[in-house]
Amino acid sequence: MREGAAVRRTSAVCVITERRACLLNPGLVCRRTLSGRTCKDKNCCAMHNETSLSCLVNVLKFSKKTLDICVYMITCSILGDAIIESHERGVIVRVITESRNSGEEGEVCGSQIGRLRAAGISVRCQSNSFWMHHKFMIADKEILVNGSFNWTNQAVMGNSENLIITSKDNLVKPFITEFQKIWNKLSPTDSTGE
Ligand SMILES: [Zn+2]
Repeated sequence: MREGAAVRRTSAVCVITERRACLLNPGLVCRRTLSGRTCKDKNCCAMHNETSLSCLVNVLKFSKKTLDICVYMITCSILGDAIIESHERGVIVRVITESRNSGEEGEVCGSQIGRLRAAGISVRCQSNSFWMHHKFMIADKEILVNGSFNWTNQAVMGNSENLIITSKDNLVKPFITEFQKIWNKLSPTDSTGE
């Protein structure tokens, strides 16, 4: 792949075929656009071009076998929907998150963790004095999404955030190892009820 292609903004589909992109475009994307339809609603205020959120949703949507998600906070319902849809398509989804943000240690506005568990998705939470502060996902063991971007409406709507999508082996592999290391360390029975 040409290095020059690495940082240009691409369509979400191209992100997956070209396997590398760097995205910094906040905004709430239209749900019709996300589902691949054309939005004809003249009053729709959502964005209809590519955003960080639409890229992230597309990686979820085009995953075929596995999704390993390791994210400090997940409160964005559009992303919650996309995770559940992937699970329902037969993709094996595993989620690691910070216990403080799971909604199980008190109210966390919009936490998607309860929904994910109710849908049958395996979730493990880190609960100790240090934070599980990662924000990365690996799709099909070959595409890494990583950056400052928490999966929250705040991040989606306007925070200054970065999100990198890559399939470079030397970047993807350490994250696969890191995910598995944390996953093995966390007991499924302590905090998930699996
Ligand atoms: Zn729209």
